[in-house]
Amino acid sequence: GVRVRFAPSPTGNLHIGGAHTALFNWLWARHMGGKFVLRIEDSDRERSTLEYEESIYSGLEWLGLLWDEGPRAGGPYGPYRQSERLEIYREYAGKLVDRGLAYREGEAIIFRVVPGEIVSFDDIVYGHIEVKSETLKDIVMIKSDGMPTYNYAVVIDDYTMSITHVIRGEDHIANTPKQILLYKALGFELPQFAHLPMILGKDKKKLSKRHGATNVLEYKDMGFLPEALFNFLALLGWSPGDDREIFTIEEAVELFDIKDVNKRAAVFDMDKLRHINQEHIKRMNPDKRLEAVKPFWEDLGLPYHNHSSDYLAKVLGIMEGRGQTLKELAEYTDYFLTFEPVKERVDREYAAASKEVLGPFCEDMIKLSQWETKALEDFAREWSNKKEVPLKKIAMPLRILLTGTKVSPGIFKVIELLGKDETIKRLSHWGI
Ligand code: GLU
Repeated sequence: GVRVRFAPSPTGNLHIGGAHTALFNWLWARHMGGKFVLRIEDSDRERSTLEYEESIYSGLEWLGLLWDEGPRAGGPYGPYRQSERLEIYREYAGKLVDRGLAYREGEAIIFRVVPGEIVSFDDIVYGHIEVKSETLKDIVMIKSDGMPTYNYAVVIDDYTMSITHVIRGEDHIANTPKQILLYKALGFELPQFAHLPMILGKDKKKLSKRHGATNVLEYKDMGFLPEALFNFLALLGWSPGDDREIFTIEEAVELFDIKDVNKRAAVFDMDKLRHINQEHIKRMNPDKRLEAVKPFWEDLGLPYHNHSSDYLAKVLGIMEGRGQTLKELAEYTDYFLTFEPVKERVDREYAAASKEVLGPFCEDMIKLSQWETKALEDFAREWSNKKEVPLKKIAMPLRILLTGTKVSPGIFKVIELLGKDETIKRLSHWGI
């Protein structure tokens, strides 16, 4: 069966590029009913930290990219951290020395590249690639400090872990011929290689911090849904084959094929991510959406605990798709949770000036026995006809004084949801 791996070095957080690689591996494993292995490439002892390891696990878990084998999960091919596999690297390197294919220099072990050979492979994404061996230098396998190099350890690990497909970023294409020489010298069967397209910023330069957040967990904090970031990352180099831009994880698993990955560099477009996120927020089950927004209300110091779940779910329902992130949704609904931010936002002079029109209107409105949108709207229309005051002249100040914003859902929907008592309380604060 298919066995793929994601092999991050814990020298930084899980970044967008790493998540993209992990995601394509995970999709291929799930699509094929295979195994997704997580291997921690911590052979750089100075730059690797346990904190980064933890942060990589958290990033993968948040995105839903759970691994079948690896640290924590265990599995029959462990250990899954390179720092715990030093014996294995030493053993195979020794064999190459014994056979005269590698030599010792200092404490290091180095593979001898013989000139006059063509090293070639057929990449699933990039097609046929070949280089002449004389363009490659001898390959350090074990450094003088006893630690393996990336190019050597990766070959030993992918072979001993029975990896069938090596799916990774295109920045590793140049390493692949060196690894192939090692596979051949060791008598190992080659896996299939699939290199993923480069991810660029909107300015067509390689994606970096300059283009915005690179750490996956920052997207969580910004109010992106994992299923939306998943959807967005999957579209960097792949598409479900039709014009569909919005899909679930399950749909992607069903339709994904590594052979359909495009080698053209993909552009990380934040506006597109925001749009995809909005679509996923809209499609969310109301209870799940409520749970997802709560931490953002919490961050804003908004007392959502003072309200019933029923009320809060209605608040989010009434927003009808406004808000591209959970954070925006939390911000846009603040006035439903408490009057405080409204007080801060409204100009006292504006409130005083609104009294003249709103006073008589509200005096009549609060006499209504039926406090629901339709009845409120009918009343407002009749009142505006009778008094010859345009409805707009009522609706806008009413909106501003109750919500502190110029953009809200239909004001009478808002008023219904706030309830009669709260509406009266807010109006009387403004002396109405
Ligand atoms: N540790 C390497 C990296 O993070 C893994 C590359 C590979 O997948 O072979 O780039």
